[in-house]
Amino acid sequence: MVVALNNAHAAIDTIPNAYQTALAQYDRAVQRLNLDENVIEYMRWPRREFTVNFPVKRDNGKIEMFTGYRVHHSTVMGPSKGGIRYSLDVTLDEVRALAMWMTWKCALVQLPYGGAKGGVLVDPKTMSLGELERLTRRYASELIPLMSPHSDIPAPDMGTTAQMMAWIMDTYSMTVGYSVPAVVTGKPVNVGGSLGRKEATGRGVIICMMEALKRRGMANRGDIRVVIQGFGNVGSHAAAYAHELGFKIVGVSDVSGGIYNPRGLDIPAVLAYVAETGTLTGCPNADRVTNAELLTLPCEVLIPAAMEGQITKHNAPQIQAQMIVEGANGPTTPEADDILNERGIFLVPDILANAGGVIVSYFEWVQDLQAFFWDEEEIYRQLQRILLRSYDMTARTAEDYHVDMRMAAQMTAIRRVGEALMTRGFYP
Ligand code: GLU
Repeated sequence: MVVALNNAHAAIDTIPNAYQTALAQYDRAVQRLNLDENVIEYMRWPRREFTVNFPVKRDNGKIEMFTGYRVHHSTVMGPSKGGIRYSLDVTLDEVRALAMWMTWKCALVQLPYGGAKGGVLVDPKTMSLGELERLTRRYASELIPLMSPHSDIPAPDMGTTAQMMAWIMDTYSMTVGYSVPAVVTGKPVNVGGSLGRKEATGRGVIICMMEALKRRGMANRGDIRVVIQGFGNVGSHAAAYAHELGFKIVGVSDVSGGIYNPRGLDIPAVLAYVAETGTLTGCPNADRVTNAELLTLPCEVLIPAAMEGQITKHNAPQIQAQMIVEGANGPTTPEADDILNERGIFLVPDILANAGGVIVSYFEWVQDLQAFFWDEEEIYRQLQRILLRSYDMTARTAEDYHVDMRMAAQMTAIRRVGEALMTRGFYP
């Protein structure tokens, strides 16, 4: 059976970066684990892959066809969980990679979920609100056979918003005939969303950063210069929280480029500027830098919070940060990991550092299922507890096996799913 699967795998050998990265990380991690070879092969594969082409009526009356995906990588630990991305860079391979990372992320932080991801090939900035609603509702209705609170639970990701999650919830609810808030997370609070969900990923990144700094004896917040790539939901909330805690944010960027001020950016002013203009371009009291320059600025902590494949063998030798905390999924390639390790740059990996989002998604799902809602204090307390517990387990594995934090996180997660799979057994 293993031979047949290996042959079939050759058919998807032309995969682009993200999936190659995810598979390379997996192959590295399983080498260090004492898992059954059938289990190793099984977990390497996405369970289900769904492609849909669907029509959307544009405001001018014309019908345009769009392509969307949803991949369930694993359902071993529970219903599959993961966001939906709207971007012109979406490919099936990218979605496969992101779904696989969700499986490991949920397993690492011990949520009762498998991993999934969805994507639609669209630039949401080119659509009106009405067009986005029609697109989201149609995509959601195409996903209905695959999704439910007990089978697959979507959430926001790049290019999608809480409002879109409300449309997904409404489309599902209208179809079944009653309201089902637990079918999707990241909703607005007034339709069953959770307090703190919007801020959760960015906040979690900073919680992990602080834990890493503390363990490395870097205590004085005012001396820690932080650079953040990406100013979307993750980067902007990470910046806001870090600023509030007294860290010095010296550089941030969005798709239009970056801004830099070695004395520290006034983050509330930058947030207000972006809220007003929709871009960092022209933001006062800072020098302009390119996105490439931003990654190699002098700083103590670099937070890539944009997208995958940003830190590569080409720029890893120039990175000046002492520490990288991954807000994005898959921002660092395996070759870059090797270079960073050689250079002694400490890295907190994505599946730990950005897990705050899915952790509070889990709280949202639990609150919706129980129809009992928690206050913000409780949410942040539980978020911190789960992240610090997961950080500690990862750091211990790193120490015990003399491996870096990425390897330790992947090993911990993959072992958990593998052991659960062995206990469940292979059907039939
Ligand atoms: N898209 C987010 C992630 O990559 C959140 C997923 C979720 O909340 O289900 O972790």
